[in-house]
Amino acid sequence: MDSYSLSAAAKINLYLEVVGDRPDGYHELVMVMQSVGLADRVTVRRILPHEIRLRCDHPAVPSDATNLAYQAAALLQQRFPKIMGQQGGVEITIEKNIPVGAGLAGGSTNAAAVLVGLDLLWQLGLTQIELQTLAAELGSDIPFCIAGGTAIATGRGEQIDTLHGLDGLYVVLAKAPALSVSTPWAYKSYRQAFADTYLDVATVGPTRQDQLHASPMMAAIGQQDGPAIGQHLYNDLEKVVLPAHPEVKAVKAALASCGGLGTLMSGSGPTLFTLTASQAAAAGIVQQMRSRYSESELGLWVAPLLPSSLQLIEP
Ligand code: ATP
Repeated sequence: MDSYSLSAAAKINLYLEVVGDRPDGYHELVMVMQSVGLADRVTVRRILPHEIRLRCDHPAVPSDATNLAYQAAALLQQRFPKIMGQQGGVEITIEKNIPVGAGLAGGSTNAAAVLVGLDLLWQLGLTQIELQTLAAELGSDIPFCIAGGTAIATGRGEQIDTLHGLDGLYVVLAKAPALSVSTPWAYKSYRQAFADTYLDVATVGPTRQDQLHASPMMAAIGQQDGPAIGQHLYNDLEKVVLPAHPEVKAVKAALASCGGLGTLMSGSGPTLFTLTASQAAAAGIVQQMRSRYSESELGLWVAPLLPSSLQLIEP
C-alpha cells in the first residue's frame, strides 16, 4: 500500500482534577478521557523524496515542523534512521473538522494517527505499548489518542488505564468560532490561583488515583449509568477559564438549561459539552441552542461517544 487514511477522533474530559506539581514541572493530573465522534481525516502517502511534507486545509494550523503530526513523523524518522532510504518519504494530509485550540486534542489525535499510519506504511511492526511510549514523548494527550475509547489518564495525562467503553451516549459540543484558549495559559493561571491547595504528589498522588477508582464517577461509568455520569462531570480548569471568559460561562449556563444529563468544559476549553442519552435528545438541545445563538456566534456538533479514537478508512 502506498497510502493509509485514518479517521482521528477528538476527545473530551469527563473528569479532570489537578492534583499538584510534579518534579518535571508538569502538573500531576487525574482524568477520565473519552473519544467522541468529531474527527479529522489524516492521510499518510509515500513520496519519492526522502522528506516529510505536510498539508492542512485549516488556516490556523501550521504546516511546518511545529505541527504535532509532522513531529510524529520526524520522531519515527529519528528512531528508524534508515527507514526513508528503504521506504521513501511521506506526505501527510490533514482534513480538519475538529476546532483548533478547543480543548478537544485535535493536534494530539493527528499525531497519534501519523504514528499508527506510518507504522503501517513503513511496516515497522510497532506494538501498542511501543506506539504509546513514542506518543508520550510527543505530548501528554497523545497516548490516550492511540488507545481511545474511555480511559483513566494519570501522571501528566500520559499513563492510560483503558475502561469498558460507554455505549449509546451522545454529546452536544459547543464552541464559539473566534475563541481559543491556550492550554499552557490555563495551567499557569491555575497554579497562580490554586497552588496553595496542591497536594504533595509523591505521597498523595497515588492515593488520589485510588480514590478516583472508588469514586461515584467510576461507579457510574462501570454501570453505564448516563444520568449518574452527567451528575459527576468535573473539571478543575473551569475555575480559571470561566471567570476569564464570561462568554464561555454564558454558553455553559445556556447549554445546562437545555435538559441534558450534565454540562462541562472539555480540557482547558473553551469547548463545552452536554451529555445526552440519545441522538434525538442531542438534536433537541442543538435546536434550543440555535434559537439563542446563530451559526456565526456558536459552533454546535452532535457526536456519539466512541469506543476508539483511530479508525482506518477504506480507500
Ligand atoms: P489539547 O486539548 O490537547 O490541549 P487543543 O484541542 O486545545 O489541544 P489543538 O487543536 O491541538 O488544541 O491546537 C493547539 C495549537 O497547536 C494550535 O494553536 C496550533 O497552532 C497547534 N497545532 C500544531 N499541530 C496541530 C494540528 N495537527 N492540529 C491542530 N493544531 C495544531
